[in-house]
Amino acid sequence: MKPREVYLAADPVNAEIAKDVLAGHGIAAHVRNQYLWGGMGDLPANVYPSVWVDDEVDFAAAKALIRRFERGALAHGRPWQCPNCGENLDAQFEQCWNCQAVRPDST
Ligand SMILES: [Zn+2]
Repeated sequence: MKPREVYLAADPVNAEIAKDVLAGHGIAAHVRNQYLWGGMGDLPANVYPSVWVDDEVDFAAAKALIRRFERGALAHGRPWQCPNCGENLDAQFEQCWNCQAVRPDST
């Protein structure tokens, strides 16, 4: 069990959301530096909250989820329709719950 950083967040809220995304996929993770960020005055500008998987074996899977989370948060943060079965899905879903089709990149 060796922790590894997967995501450097812009702020603590993003860090928490990213951690929840990982937890929702069964990956144990934690946030570091969320209490250092902001309001403390003298910290260097490069101190941002970061998300770490508890075990580096989850790193690759976590990184892939984070990438999709970032895309979704930045570009596709809205409901989508499954191209396979036509089900309407909320923005946070990465997969159709009805037919398990993976969300297309270009939604
Ligand atoms: Zn579907």
